[in-house]
Amino acid sequence: MQRIYMDHAATTPTDPRVVEAMMPYFTEFFGNPSSIHGFGRAARKALEDARAVIAQELGAEPAGVIITSGGSEADNLAIKGVAAALREKGRHIITSSVEHHAVLDSCKYLEKQGFDVTYLPVDANGRVQVEDVQNALRDETILVTIMHANNEVGTIQPIKEISEVVKARSKALFHTDAVQTVGAIPVHLDELGVDLLSLSAHKFYGPKGVGALIIRKGVRLESLIHGGAQERNRRAGTENLPGVVGMAKALELANAELPEARPRITRLRDHLIQSVLNGFDHVRLNGHPTERLPGNANFSFEYIEGESLLLNLDLQGIAASSGSACTSGSLDPSHVLLAMGLCHATAHGSLRLSLGKGTTEEEVETVLKVLPGIVEKLRAMSPLYDHVRKECLTCTRTK
Ligand SMILES: *Cc1c(COP(=O)(O)O)cnc(C)c1O
Repeated sequence: MQRIYMDHAATTPTDPRVVEAMMPYFTEFFGNPSSIHGFGRAARKALEDARAVIAQELGAEPAGVIITSGGSEADNLAIKGVAAALREKGRHIITSSVEHHAVLDSCKYLEKQGFDVTYLPVDANGRVQVEDVQNALRDETILVTIMHANNEVGTIQPIKEISEVVKARSKALFHTDAVQTVGAIPVHLDELGVDLLSLSAHKFYGPKGVGALIIRKGVRLESLIHGGAQERNRRAGTENLPGVVGMAKALELANAELPEARPRITRLRDHLIQSVLNGFDHVRLNGHPTERLPGNANFSFEYIEGESLLLNLDLQGIAASSGSACTSGSLDPSHVLLAMGLCHATAHGSLRLSLGKGTTEEEVETVLKVLPGIVEKLRAMSPLYDHVRKECLTCTRTK
């Protein structure tokens, strides 16, 4: 059976060229970058070279690149680290209701520590309104954190416009979770106007378990992990050198290939979206029609449970997702879709197909061929049918 991977928003395969670049740092250059002997110095040099590449690719300073264990840690460090450093200046934080749980749960943790958090709503396309950010800013706001693009529905936020308002109206720092955009669309610190930015290597064909928080000069934050003086005292622990080398290589490759990959993946995505919207009744596209990630297609099929759709696709060799990787195993519908105004039942019928640089036209055609049979079968046996139809009379955005 042909196996088709359409879950690139969850993770990507590591590019063989990245693996190749990493190999010597497991075996030959295995030194601890903090050691003063030759092995250590060679490792240190490789680490700093990789850091310089990451900084260069994102328009940052090498000293502003803090290596982390991935996107979740970068988000935690940005939010909790800034909150701890600035708690005497103010205790108000602004975020959106569609953030990744690494951001939302960090904010919830801070609420328990006495911080006040504003969760901004989004429109039906999943976008934050710049005016809402402006109205939420207070004298005591220390941090605004809004993701660059959403991992479930692919909507790209107006980060530049939000940054202008934050800078003009407050002294707050501005953080963006750019885990879904780095390597997929151009990401540049100055062009976005952000002070802190999170990324994760495994979302752009790099290795898992390594990422970075990029900070602008002058940004103060407290370390979350104490021990050695690594990362300029901002993140203790012997550096994941093969991982950092791999992340730098992956970022370099992704950005170099972006001019070719982005329009190609966007075309495949649009073909998939148009074919699904034209080919099915009672289906809607979730997320913004144009301001969306090149590889993201997210649909809601009414009268169907997303989980059943996924299992049936998996039986046919197609790997998709119902939105966020569901680690809790809970059947709660996506907080993102609910924030966009979908009712519970429609939110339950969502399917995310995320395309990547390895996705072929043939694979998209296969998915389009397989999907109708599954949808028909599930609708025919769905006990949800009546229930959903009633409930969705109140779900105005579904039709
Ligand atoms: C994947 C993802 C994360 C978490 O990154 P990890 O490296 O898996 O911890 C955070 N935010 C967004 C938007 C993501 O897509």
